[in-house]
Amino acid sequence: MSQAGEQGTLFVISAPSGAGKTSLVAEMLREDAGLGVSVSHTTRPMRDGEKDGVNYHFVSRDEFEAMIARGDFLEHADVFGNYYGTSQVWVRERLASGRDVILEIDWQGAAQVRRLMPECVSIFIVPPSAAILRERLVGRGTDAAEVIERRLSEAEEECRHAVEFDYLVVNDEFSVALGDLLAIARSRRLRMPVQQVRYAQLLDGLCDRG
Ligand code: 5GP
Repeated sequence: MSQAGEQGTLFVISAPSGAGKTSLVAEMLREDAGLGVSVSHTTRPMRDGEKDGVNYHFVSRDEFEAMIARGDFLEHADVFGNYYGTSQVWVRERLASGRDVILEIDWQGAAQVRRLMPECVSIFIVPPSAAILRERLVGRGTDAAEVIERRLSEAEEECRHAVEFDYLVVNDEFSVALGDLLAIARSRRLRMPVQQVRYAQLLDGLCDRG
């Protein structure tokens, strides 16, 4: 968390489906109390085990389009036939209070956020190989062969945008990838403008012998 007067940091995290992004972000939140994740709105149907207001705010297309018209979204995109969007208010208020925010969004949303908030930190997560990505998608055992093929081509499309991001994290060993993500978040809080506020007294004391 940053000190009063400093805006929190906005972390934008994208990945192809099967890279482990959701599990990694869930673990980041457990390990680092200074981080909070924005709950997106979506028009896609709820999956088994998901909860409204926890995984997403599930809304109809009409409701979503009314929110677009009101300017409620910081960014929104059509991702493979469903709308997804990040609500402005929660994100902006949390950042203004000096706390950090994670957005788990696709490359289109990431590009919009980068234009609006160039100071954001964007991270792309990839699996260690195309073969392992395929294994992970097949291993879920929930999808038919044509669904897996579709997800693989969607993953390819997402990965084409990896180089637009500030950081690349490879999720081979989960704990190593988690350490990399936490290191990125931590290093942001060690930047001089943040530390200068936090350690103003220390710096004064060290520089002034009179
Ligand atoms: P899923 O339906 O599997 O939860 O997510 C599908 C894709 O939509 C993922 O790439 C996810 O990161 C992205 N996504 C989730 N929420 C948002 C959002 O608020 N905005 C954008 N642009 N993409 C999102």
